[in-house]
Amino acid sequence: MTTLKAVRGTRDLLPPETALWNRIETTARAVFARYNFGEIRTPIFEDTSLFARGVGEETDIVSKEMFTWEDRARAQSEKPQMLTLRPENTAGVVRAYIEHKLGETGQLQKLFYIGPQFRRERPQKGRYRQFFQIGAEVIGPPSAGSESPLRDAEVLEMLASLLDELGITGWTLELNSVGSPADRARYNDTLRAALEPVKAKMCVDCQRRAETNPLRVLDCKVPADQPIIATLPVIADSLDDDSKTHFAAVTAALDAAGVPYTRNHRLVRGLDYYTRTTFEFTHGGLGAQNALLGGGRYDGLSEAIGGPKAPGIGFAMGEDRLVLTLLAQESNQNLTVKADAFIAPLGESLNAPALALARELRRAGLTIELGDGSFRLKKSFEAADKTARAIVILGEDELKSGILTVKTFATGVQTKVPRAELASSLANPAPE
Ligand code: ATP
Ligand code: MG
Repeated sequence: MTTLKAVRGTRDLLPPETALWNRIETTARAVFARYNFGEIRTPIFEDTSLFARGVGEETDIVSKEMFTWEDRARAQSEKPQMLTLRPENTAGVVRAYIEHKLGETGQLQKLFYIGPQFRRERPQKGRYRQFFQIGAEVIGPPSAGSESPLRDAEVLEMLASLLDELGITGWTLELNSVGSPADRARYNDTLRAALEPVKAKMCVDCQRRAETNPLRVLDCKVPADQPIIATLPVIADSLDDDSKTHFAAVTAALDAAGVPYTRNHRLVRGLDYYTRTTFEFTHGGLGAQNALLGGGRYDGLSEAIGGPKAPGIGFAMGEDRLVLTLLAQESNQNLTVKADAFIAPLGESLNAPALALARELRRAGLTIELGDGSFRLKKSFEAADKTARAIVILGEDELKSGILTVKTFATGVQTKVPRAELASSLANPAPE
């Protein structure tokens, strides 16, 4: 029989690495709480049209990366429904915002999510078909201040703090503005004209993009095209006064808060509903997949999927890439945590009393490994040395007298400890 394996592009996350995943999620939750964000959990699958409309037919995600299937019709008269595993979470959050009329509260909604996303991509380091994102959205009616550049700056400052707190050093914040839809249309015309005389020298994808969606040329990764792209006009010169003022206010607030950034004129992020601020945090250690996270403002998204006017800004961090970055750092080389003690019952008749002792110590907050009375003492010592800082021996004598034998591995010291003092003595091992 062939052995079954996890499907291409998916993977199992195992201990001790999952400790790092949990640490990242705990830190993210704590940071989000300080900025007064609440958690949202949307379904893993949605109606396909949500992504077609909310992410955009033209994007890589929708045009080639979605896992989509036709659901069985519930009745003969009904059309079968097309469903898709969520490739990202912003569309789902905005759908929920509309569905639950969250805009009617008149308040800004500050929502974060943590969960798996699915894209049919070519798997490689830092790129999987099931991957995890930690993201957040700030969205609300304009009267709640949702268009304010201060919201953009606050989200960026929060991200800088979160990455710092996670211990990720050496990140770069790349920032740009794609302006209003009118600015972008103007820029597309400018680009199309600029590409006309040079496009024949570019890759086939760029030749097509030069006709259909010139903005996408800026995303091209083909080395030979880069010198040509470097000479193209930048979107900054196509922005109107409102867009320029908005961007200047974002950068002024970042300067005041001391958050460093670099302007990346090529950061245009293709989605139709993106407006004004766009950003990515990158990290050199990641190689080709160097984006830790991406985000931006999406003032037209709610209306694009049939909702009220609800400007917003958000981001999605690639949790897999945060893990890769942290694993490459020295401080995370040893994630294995040892238990406080290993309890070794001397004989099977002591198994039940050993469970009672383990329960006592675990209830006192200690991490306990429980051995087995069928083990020889030598085997218990070997198992204990691998998994715990100390071994507690429980024989008939110890059970009767209530005085236990404890050996601490780091010091090699063996002592007798009364049962009533055992928990505190294991919690505070004698100094080495
Ligand atoms: P890329 O250019 O790397 O494909 P993207 O623009 O498709 O990124 P977004 O849709 O903005 O990515 O997603 C936000 C973040 O999610 C990315 O910056 C990245 O960290 C992570 N991410 C995206 N796709 C994957 C994937 N297939 N596997 C792992 N992480 C991913
Ligand atoms: Mg992608």
